[in-house]
Amino acid sequence: MAKRERRYRRFPAGSEDLISSLHIRGQTLPHLYEPEQYAQWFFQFLRSDLRSLTAGQQLGTRADVLVFARPELLRGCWSTDDGLPPIELLETLQRDARAGIQCVRRGEWFELEAGIGYGVAIFGDRLIRGARRGTFKDLFLAAVIDTLQTSWNRLYECPQCHEIFLKVGKQKYCSSKCANRAHWQKFKAHRPSRDHHTEYVRRTRQRIGANVKINPRRKK
Ligand SMILES: [Zn+2]
Repeated sequence: MAKRERRYRRFPAGSEDLISSLHIRGQTLPHLYEPEQYAQWFFQFLRSDLRSLTAGQQLGTRADVLVFARPELLRGCWSTDDGLPPIELLETLQRDARAGIQCVRRGEWFELEAGIGYGVAIFGDRLIRGARRGTFKDLFLAAVIDTLQTSWNRLYECPQCHEIFLKVGKQKYCSSKCANRAHWQKFKAHRPSRDHHTEYVRRTRQRIGANVKINPRRKK
């Protein structure tokens, strides 16, 4: 536990612009904080079914959650072998983030549970300040709040699955899966269903003559 804590203390922010530079095995997020990419990752994470991910994808997602939260002075940790947040915690984070977003949509405040502290410590030969101290959950939700602020006017509800997504370009649905589903449903709705027996009668009459007697439809 102590060892793990020290690992995170190597990445504190002494200034506003040195926000994050975590290097964690499996992470897909860029090492340096990129608001757009982080926002895109976050809204995909919010919609993802964590239990259906492969072991490798779970590892990557757990690493990304840690990077996204940009921990500086992390208080209260977990005890997984790989040092990454456990998948159960990720599910809680998804739930809390969704609930927070719904609060904002209703016109209420999205606030942190325990709040974020403020600290200072010696780092090498300098005194560094950690403004983002808190439980991992609060750090994560604080990152969600930052992300909401930068992406609010590009958030839309997917007309297919009603999940929230970050609109990129002319995108209408949250994912290609939903777009395909919607297009298929539209296509199906406009196409009359086929009557195979009538088609057969017509084909046979064309082939043999209009007065041909055709057996009634066989009962299945
Ligand atoms: Zn969708």
